[in-house]
Amino acid sequence: MPLPQRLNRAHWPAGTFFALLAGLFGALFAGIVAWLAADQYGVLQTTESLRLKTIPQTLEYQRLARNLEVLRREGERVLHGDDAAARQQALFVVSLVASHPRLLEDERARALAGETEEFLSGMARGTHFDAAEQAHWERLSTRLTLLADDISVDGVNLANADLEQMSAAIQSGRYKLAVALLLAGVFLTVLLWLIRRHFIRPLQHIDRALSQLQPMGPPPALPASSMEEFQAIEGAIGQLHEAMRDSELTREDLERLATTDALTGLHNRRHFMHMAHGEVERAHRYGRPVAVGLADLDLFKRVNDTHGHAAGDAVLQVFAAILRETLRQTDWVCRYGGEEFAFAFPETTPTEAQALVERLRRRLAELDIAIGEGKRVRITLSIGLADASACPLEAALRQADEALYRAKTQGRNMTVLAGSDAGDEAEIDAEAEPVAPRS
Ligand code: GH3
Ligand code: MG
Ligand code: MG
Repeated sequence: MPLPQRLNRAHWPAGTFFALLAGLFGALFAGIVAWLAADQYGVLQTTESLRLKTIPQTLEYQRLARNLEVLRREGERVLHGDDAAARQQALFVVSLVASHPRLLEDERARALAGETEEFLSGMARGTHFDAAEQAHWERLSTRLTLLADDISVDGVNLANADLEQMSAAIQSGRYKLAVALLLAGVFLTVLLWLIRRHFIRPLQHIDRALSQLQPMGPPPALPASSMEEFQAIEGAIGQLHEAMRDSELTREDLERLATTDALTGLHNRRHFMHMAHGEVERAHRYGRPVAVGLADLDLFKRVNDTHGHAAGDAVLQVFAAILRETLRQTDWVCRYGGEEFAFAFPETTPTEAQALVERLRRRLAELDIAIGEGKRVRITLSIGLADASACPLEAALRQADEALYRAKTQGRNMTVLAGSDAGDEAEIDAEAEPVAPRS
């Protein structure tokens, strides 16, 4: 057996849904921050290394280069000093520089400084030196200058390496930031889409369903929502619609009960009076014709007495059916009292109304009415009509009642128009009174 639709659907409590989304967003955000922090950490590390290691090292290199330059300059003084004392002093400086611990730490500087010191020590003893020795010194001097340059460059290169590393970390941070922004954008788009799909759309559907909710309209069509809370609201809207429908049906029933006669299904007197008042007022306002009438079944008591109350009821119901068939849609008729009926004929003169009720009277008089157990009766009708186009409804009905009374006194089974001399006599006098059962 297929599961009901409600059980088939995925359903989430909105709180859980939001908590999940918030958790996802938090995890993504934390991941992005950690990812970017790795680069920041790299930059910090490089800065520290630059400050504590590379810059002091570079300064050492610069100092070493300067010492080599001092070595070369003092060498010149050893060779070309003004006097022996000056040359000895210069040689002393050369020995001091060549034995400096920092200089000795560098392989290249140590070798070249040693060679220079040795050459200059030899030279310091004499006053003149030959061309070969001069050329040797120039080579040494050039090598000292070149090594000083190389060491300077090495120092700068050290700092450059750190700066390049830092720049690479910053560049990578920029790329990561771009990717992080893209991810955040994608996540936000998905988040908005989810909110639209699972919150805004259901709310719009609920709004539309509520605004279109009609008691007698179709049940609200709500697409399945995945949030438990919305499903509860949708269920409540369905129940509300059913309740509205029930209440409307009850209201219609009550209205029918309040305006209808239970036995005949015709309007009751209260409702008729209300509607007839409206018709008469409208006729007065626009100067239109309107007629009213009262009809009473002749010698109806006899039917009850002879055939029983149920037979009387059956006659009343058949007569109501004839009324509905014979009268026009726009005419008003009601069960005024026991076997008494009232009419209002809008847009109708008394003469036209007379023709209409005559047709009714004749039709009834010619009819064998089945009252059960194979029995049939005939019954006639007396009618009083009055013009209501120039007087209040109550006055017109009083005149119609007087005309009805005349119809009764003049022999029944006839229509009497108020203000006229005589009524329309029954065409079938012999049948004017209820007849005995025929079968
Ligand atoms: P008339 O021609 O003078 O009108 O004679 P009538 O017998 O019709 O008049 P009367 O007023 O003497 O009798 C009316 C009877 O209608 C009395 C009452 O029992 C009967 N009646 C009123 N309401 C009902 C009803 O709902 N069902 C039945 N079966 N009889 C009813
Ligand atoms: Mg009566
Ligand atoms: Mg009667």
